[in-house]
Amino acid sequence: MSNPRANHSEFNIVNTNYLKTDITPVRRRRLRSLADLAGAELLPVGDEARYIQLAGQYDIGISDHVRSLIQKTGRPEKDVIGRQYIPTLDELNVLSDEESDPIGDEIYTPVNGIVHRYEDRVLFKVTNVCAVYCRYCFRREMVGAGAEHLSDEDFDRAIAYIKSHDEIWEVILTGGDPFVLSPRRLQKVIEALNKIEHVKIIRIHTRTPVADPTLISDTILSVLKLSAKPIYIVLHINHAKEITEEVVHKISRLRAVNCSILSQSVLLRGVNDDAITLENLFRKLVTLHVQPYYLHHLDRAKGTSHFRVSLTRGQEIMKDLQGRVSGICLPKYMLDIPGGHGKIPVNESYVQVRDGDVYSVEDYQGCTHLYFDTVPTNRAEK
Ligand code: SF4
Repeated sequence: MSNPRANHSEFNIVNTNYLKTDITPVRRRRLRSLADLAGAELLPVGDEARYIQLAGQYDIGISDHVRSLIQKTGRPEKDVIGRQYIPTLDELNVLSDEESDPIGDEIYTPVNGIVHRYEDRVLFKVTNVCAVYCRYCFRREMVGAGAEHLSDEDFDRAIAYIKSHDEIWEVILTGGDPFVLSPRRLQKVIEALNKIEHVKIIRIHTRTPVADPTLISDTILSVLKLSAKPIYIVLHINHAKEITEEVVHKISRLRAVNCSILSQSVLLRGVNDDAITLENLFRKLVTLHVQPYYLHHLDRAKGTSHFRVSLTRGQEIMKDLQGRVSGICLPKYMLDIPGGHGKIPVNESYVQVRDGDVYSVEDYQGCTHLYFDTVPTNRAEK
C-alpha cells in the first residue's frame, strides 16, 4: 500500500475540513517525511524498506523550532531532543504487552471525542493533529495526517454530552494538541464550555508551547484571556533543553492572560531517566512559575519498549529527587494501569512488589490488578 504519510513535505497546521472559513492561511515548513528527514541529515542509517513501513504506521512531525534544538553531531536520534522525535527502526519491535489503546480510552468513550473515565471530569479530544509527533506517544496510532479534527456534528454531540452530565466539573481539552486549532475554532470550544454552568474548570493539555512556540500567537492568547472560567494549561515537557528563551517568553505570556500552568513529563530511557536531568527540568520550571505536576511511567503503546524505564528505577529516581529538591519541585510519579483502570501514584499505598518485576497495583476504585513491569533485557538501564 502506498504510504500517505511519507509524502507530506509541508504541514498545514490548521487544515480542518469543517472550519474552512476559520483557517488561518499559515503553511509552516517542517519535517514531515522520510525525504525531509534525509534532507535535514536526521534520518538514521537503516533499511529503507523498513523505514517506509515505519513511516506508514506512525506520523513524522518535527517543527523548525525542535529541529534547531537537535544536536546534529554524531547520532542525532540519540540526542535528548532528537530521540523524542526522530523515528528509529526500534519502533518496529512490538512486544506482546503493547496495545493500540494502552490506557483504555475507547471503553470510556460515550460519544466521539469524549472520554469519561472519572466522574467529575472528561477528556475532550478536539483534534487528532499535533504540532510535532513524539515517538513514544500513547496515542500514536490515533494522531497524525488523515486523522484530522472532530467533525462539526461530533463537536455538537460532545458539547451536548457535557451539558447533559452535571457531574462534569472539569473539561480537559486534549487530542492531538488543542493549540493547533485555529484561534476561531479554539474560541468556539471555549465559548461553548463557558456557557455550561456546571463546568467550572477548563484544562488544556499541550506540547505546543515547547514544540512550536510560534503557534502561541497573540490571537490565541486573546482567546484564552476572554475565558470566563479558569484555564489550567498542562505543558508536556521532558527535558530542560526544551526550555529556550522563546519558550520562556511564551510561558510568561500565557501566565499574563491568567492561565495557571502545570507540567507533565514522561520518564523516558535515554532522555530523562536520571535524577540530575529531572532535577534541572523541575527546578527550571518552578522558576518560571510552572508547577511540576505528573511524571508519567511510560504507557505501553506499540513500538515504544526502547523508551521503557522500570518501576524500580523510576522509584529510585523519585527517592533521589526527594532528598535533593524542594517539595515544590516534585511531581507525582504516576502509572496508568493498562486496560482503562486509571491513573495511580507509584507509591506503596497503590503499588506493591509481588515477585521480581510483577507488581500488585490497586486502582482508584479499590480493585487490584497484576502489572508486569517488563523492560527488555537487551536495553538494560544505566
Ligand atoms: S504532542 Fe502529545 S499527542 Fe501529539 S504526538 Fe506528542 S505526545 Fe502524542
